[in-house]
Amino acid sequence: MGENMNIYDFTQEELESFLIENGYKKFNALQIIDWMYDKKEYDFNKMTNLSKKLISFLNENMIIKTPEVIKVEKSDLANKYLLRLEDNNKIECVLMNHDYGYSLCVSSQVGCNMGCSFCESGRLKKVRDLKLEELVGQVICVSKYENIRIDSIVVMGIGEPFDNFNNIKRFISVVINPKMINIGQRHLTISTCGLVPKIYEFADMETGVNLAISLHAPNNEIRDKIMKINHAYKIEKVMEALDYYISKTNRRVTIEYIMLEGINDSDECAKELANLVKGKLMYVNLIPYNETTHFELKRSNDFKIKSFYDILKSYNVNVTIRKEMGGNLSAACGQLRANVEEGE
Ligand code: SAH
Repeated sequence: MGENMNIYDFTQEELESFLIENGYKKFNALQIIDWMYDKKEYDFNKMTNLSKKLISFLNENMIIKTPEVIKVEKSDLANKYLLRLEDNNKIECVLMNHDYGYSLCVSSQVGCNMGCSFCESGRLKKVRDLKLEELVGQVICVSKYENIRIDSIVVMGIGEPFDNFNNIKRFISVVINPKMINIGQRHLTISTCGLVPKIYEFADMETGVNLAISLHAPNNEIRDKIMKINHAYKIEKVMEALDYYISKTNRRVTIEYIMLEGINDSDECAKELANLVKGKLMYVNLIPYNETTHFELKRSNDFKIKSFYDILKSYNVNVTIRKEMGGNLSAACGQLRANVEEGE
């Protein structure tokens, strides 16, 4: 056998089967899970209600650890953590302090292959998918580091979650499991750039997990220019898939729309977007673009954002303007990792 497995890489069912296969009892899984998730104990020897035999089995066959926090950037509204993984790859996650509690934005891959023209994460390309232990590990290590309970999770960090679908499904089961991370499905949101077949699969899971879609353009002409994924799945196909998700789950879908000066922020664009979403169980989140030094793109000015907002409102579309929380923090999406990988 190669390296010992990390026990955070198991769902409850997987750990139960593993223990049974090795001659232990199903209920031992929940005993261990309580130490891992409730007490955040990283030493098998201190799991005092387990038998000596089980403790030595765990010591010999498993490891228990989460990624290491190597850098923290703090601001009033958000903290950004740079984490080091076992193989020395780095990822980041962002903790936001909302009036309704702590929300953690987690990464799903090291880098990203989607190649959106405005996004830092894609600039460095995908290195690999995150394992379950690393998805879970972000939540455990930040809540342990800050000694807080995290109330909601958004998968909106580096990577395309639906390009790592199998682990995201397992992550969902760990997040919503009352014995494990224990965050209600309504407090978990997955954001995708629009991998249409996976939207259908996600809908068919019929969980109450929220879906957000990075639309960023009201028509194919613009979307083709800024998002490579639109060459594979056109807006009409994305909208059809969202209708299906809504029909299956009756959950409101979030439409993310970054505001890029002169590209997607005209009055015409606002009207087109309004026609796309009006009357549907959808709401639009306008995101002031967070400028980076590597792209020419500019953030729309506040007047433009406000008038875009007003047009959507006039069509009775539910719309909000995202508070900029990470702006002064090497900000959103991949920027901290990109800076570190390139020696700043
Ligand atoms: N791949 C997924 C999730 C990660 S990106 C997705 O595409 O949804 C999370 C969100 O941040 C996406 O809406 C993305 O388009 C947006 N984003 C990327 N770079 C940004 C930037 N510089 N400023 C503002 N939002 C950005």
